[in-house]
Amino acid sequence: MMRAQGMEAIRAEKVVKSYGTTRALNGVSLEIEPGELFFLLGASGCGKSTLLRCIAGLETPNEGGIFFGNRDVTKMPPHQREAAMVFQSYALWPHLSVMKNISFGLEERKVPKAEIERRVEEALAMVKLEGYGPRGIDAMSGGQQQRVALARALVVRPKCLLLDEPLSNLDAQLRIEMRREIRRIVKEFGLTAVYVTHDQEEALAMADRMAILAGGVIEQVGTPADVYRNPHTSYVAAFIGETNLLEARITALDPVTVEVGNFSLQGRITKVGWQPALEQKVLLSIRPESLRIEEGGIIPAQVVEKVYLGSCIQYWVETPCGKIQVVEMNPHRLYEPEDALRLSVDAMDVVILAH
Ligand code: ADP
Ligand code: MG
Repeated sequence: MMRAQGMEAIRAEKVVKSYGTTRALNGVSLEIEPGELFFLLGASGCGKSTLLRCIAGLETPNEGGIFFGNRDVTKMPPHQREAAMVFQSYALWPHLSVMKNISFGLEERKVPKAEIERRVEEALAMVKLEGYGPRGIDAMSGGQQQRVALARALVVRPKCLLLDEPLSNLDAQLRIEMRREIRRIVKEFGLTAVYVTHDQEEALAMADRMAILAGGVIEQVGTPADVYRNPHTSYVAAFIGETNLLEARITALDPVTVEVGNFSLQGRITKVGWQPALEQKVLLSIRPESLRIEEGGIIPAQVVEKVYLGSCIQYWVETPCGKIQVVEMNPHRLYEPEDALRLSVDAMDVVILAH
């Protein structure tokens, strides 16, 4: 068993990192629990890789600190951190065997030969590639190569596993298979893992918790269900899953009521400490699946487009508050373009956000 001795927390404290005049990270603070599979999620260029590289020790923050448990590792070189990194590009040596690729780090550390062989076999077993040691990298599929890259990271018995878009080079089917595989490895071996992706679906499917970054700052941290149900900003609402963002105006405060188009809806506020004023302009986030097609519905709508997806149907409909998306699960009847219908939504499903 390769379990590291004790699981470790990772903490970033007010981390600032600039490249010339570009501020890649603008004061990021974060606490990752021991044994957690934690995601850094956000659009390209938001600073995910920079934060991961600061955690790995491949970059040094200009300001702030990185802590592993009680250890201040801010200035510690990568190999002393007991963290191993896995990259999108695998970074394997194509002319060397699987065994050699995995054992390289141990040879550098002058681990005895018999011990190396044993640990490589263990690492191969962890990623379900027993017996593949003698193969050439060229003779392995993309998915197998990613497993080799994982084994190479695990063979040094890290406490923390850092992954930067590890599945981006795999086809869709394999990507979904490897999601479960990586999660299994992290949990089975008690690793604290930080996983970077721009793929919100991957994060929702795999994460214990996630941080959504935008422009070098953290917008929100939470579990997948919390972030999906209770986005604090319109950016987060739109980035995680699909949503309808509608302009509205506050017309009453208790319960919170808005006017949107020419009708009234009640909603709820998710961001602690934020309280809109009467008449204030706000945005509503309404998930497509929380809109119900019902005869007595309050919102009149006309079907513009129907997309049949098997398990559900997606409609684009025109309403007094604009064109919105409705997803109906388990549909009993189909509507066609031009059909008129009515929609309703529960106050619970109307999230009121700052404009
Ligand atoms: P992400 O991984 O979220 O796509 P990065 O952390 O790679 O984002 O980059 C954040 C910002 O910092 C971007 O504007 C990027 O262009 C810039 N950046 C990243 N690495 C470097 C570098 N080595 N030199 C200059 N600019 C960089
Ligand atoms: Mg990146």
